[in-house]
Amino acid sequence: MTPTPGSVAPTGGWRSARVAAVDRPGPAAVRLRLDVADRVSHLPGQHYVVRLTAPDGYTASRSYSVASAPGDPLVELYVERLVDGEVSGYLADVLEPGDELEVRGPVGGWFVWDGTTPALAVGGGSGVVPLVSMLRHARDTGRPELLCLVGAARTAASLPYAEEMLDGCTLVALSQEDSPAGRPAGRLRAADLAPLVDGRDAGFVCGSAGFAETASQALVAAGMPADRVRVERFGPSG
Ligand SMILES: Cc1cc2nc3c(=O)[nH]c(=O)nc-3n(C[C@H](O)[C@H](O)[C@H](O)COP(=O)(O)OP(=O)(O)OC[C@H]3O[C@@H](n4cnc5c(N)ncnc54)[C@H](O)[C@@H]3O)c2cc1C
Repeated sequence: MTPTPGSVAPTGGWRSARVAAVDRPGPAAVRLRLDVADRVSHLPGQHYVVRLTAPDGYTASRSYSVASAPGDPLVELYVERLVDGEVSGYLADVLEPGDELEVRGPVGGWFVWDGTTPALAVGGGSGVVPLVSMLRHARDTGRPELLCLVGAARTAASLPYAEEMLDGCTLVALSQEDSPAGRPAGRLRAADLAPLVDGRDAGFVCGSAGFAETASQALVAAGMPADRVRVERFGPSG
């Protein structure tokens, strides 16, 4: 089906998803392209729950944000492989094209961007994934100026989708090396965000609990009103 962006879709029940493509951009990550049966459209920022079932019936479920834009016929997930990670390890190491997964979604009604208002999105590591969906949606709809994306990581190699943050209103902040655009190495600060806040109606912050805390504080210090900042934390409870 061709999904229609622009509304918060109902979550629905478990659906099967065929793995259409698997791309491993590095030893610690996998990019999955899923063909979801009876798919309902997502809004940028939403996520899916992936459920694995072992032969003995044991199940494990984890949340993964959608990286693709609503207009993409496939659902793209980017999974960072954690050491001893029960679900991320399987997805990153074992999954192959043609495999089937159980998924539920799209999920989430708060951390979403409808693509109509100017926003500033700040992500740390794999926290950029839902923000990349926002970036792609803004570009697909011919309104790239509406979404400004800041991606933070230790190195360019550890920042998912860094190659999509080379033009438009994007900023790459690397703590351990100079960014490709010339920003000196160093942690993300309010001074990085201050030039980007003006005219932005909303702020989105996503990443680990620690990153979310410091980045949302930096966003407010840079001038974004606290009640306009929406935060998503990728924690162990996923
Ligand atoms: C709304 C939401 C969206 C998410 N989107 C993404 C996404 O797009 N890409 C992605 O890679 N992950 C995402 N996550 C995190 C994901 O849901 C899992 O928590 C992660 O993949 C670890 O699961 P696991 O089974 O591999 O690890 P587990 O077996 O559950 O844990 C292994 C070890 O890692 C620790 N741990 C678990 N989760 C995390 C974490 N997130 N960060 C640091 N340490 C952790 C545990 O405490 C444990 O020590 C999201 C989480 C939420 C809540």
